Amino acid sequence: MIYLDNAATTPPFENSLRAAWPWLTTEFGNPSSTHELGLTAKAALESARESVAESLGCRASEIIFTSGATESNNLGIKGLALANPRGRQIISAKTEHSSVLASIEFLVRHHDFRVDWLDVDREGRISLEQLATVLSSDTSLVSLMWVNNESGVIHDLPAIAGLCQAASVPLHCDAVQAIGHLAVNLAEVPISSLAISGHKFGAPKGSGVLFVRASAAFESVANGGGQESGMRSGTQNVAWAVAIADALAQHRGVTADAQLDRGLAQQTRNFIDAVLLAVPRAQLVGPRPTIDRMERSPAIASFVFEGLNGETILLELERRGIICSSGSACSAGSTEPSHVLLAMGYDPDLARTAVRFSFASELPGVKRTATTEPFDANRVVQALVEITEKLAG
Ligand code: PMP
Repeated sequence: MIYLDNAATTPPFENSLRAAWPWLTTEFGNPSSTHELGLTAKAALESARESVAESLGCRASEIIFTSGATESNNLGIKGLALANPRGRQIISAKTEHSSVLASIEFLVRHHDFRVDWLDVDREGRISLEQLATVLSSDTSLVSLMWVNNESGVIHDLPAIAGLCQAASVPLHCDAVQAIGHLAVNLAEVPISSLAISGHKFGAPKGSGVLFVRASAAFESVANGGGQESGMRSGTQNVAWAVAIADALAQHRGVTADAQLDRGLAQQTRNFIDAVLLAVPRAQLVGPRPTIDRMERSPAIASFVFEGLNGETILLELERRGIICSSGSACSAGSTEPSHVLLAMGYDPDLARTAVRFSFASELPGVKRTATTEPFDANRVVQALVEITEKLAG
């Protein structure tokens, strides 16, 4: 099987699970307990926090462990908006993940906020000029993702964060698809809160992090025993904190020097060129990759196939041992066209034909718990040629 659905989830790193194992078994203490078992668990939790902070370029006290990015987006967006009473306006884009859209809609329904949705062009880009125009003295929050999970488009977060900082407006960022592929250094980019999800880069499902900058006003909406500095109450999952810290640390080398994962970027660029050359009906979703412009994630290549049935293409690929998806796994199984492609101006019928291939970075010496066949671009392109010719009849 060639597994090309890494934007949905990745096979975990063996080492990250091994690091987690003692905290699921012999070292089972509650990190809030004051006896020795508890203190040992607390030490592991705090060491994981230090490690995550080092990976992201922030302070350990700014790291909150969560159950994943859906929770992190909910806590970050609601926490910042509710603590910033300066206005009622939220600014975001319709191409955001459903956990962001739903958190904003909740604030509109129950807390009297209103939203200005930024336009996105056919490639999924927003306009910085429009953001600058829409920002006002009434803005309480901007929420924009770093990398889109369907189009692969990269938003210019340093520039967006600069605009928000100049306007003294907090910025929440869903960085799920950036981690492991782009350099994310919070010491250099003035983001107020940031969400990441462990299972997208080698940690288990159900592990996540929310970064909240110390200087940001923040209202907790997960109330209880006051764990995680009162920002996310509930007994911490020490094992998953250890695992996500380990998996994040494994990626440090990939993006530390380069702005993005260059080896993967080249492989994906070649794959996109080959598909567009060999499959006349294929149209690339998102910007065409170039060597010198960082507009597209190295890990995502989605296409639409005019006049064909996307679900049938997926099934035919699977029959040939190639696993990919129609877009976001969160809405998989639904016959509704992707809200992301609709926001990008795709006609609903064309949006229903989307097929997404998503890749994981190769990390030297890092073993995954499940072995899949290595990516073979020729095999995938050949399969697409056969399938699209057959379906076109
Ligand atoms: N944001 C983006 C961009 C995602 O791709 C996902 C996962 N599909 C999420 C948020 C939600 O992450 P989790 O699965 O950890 O809840």
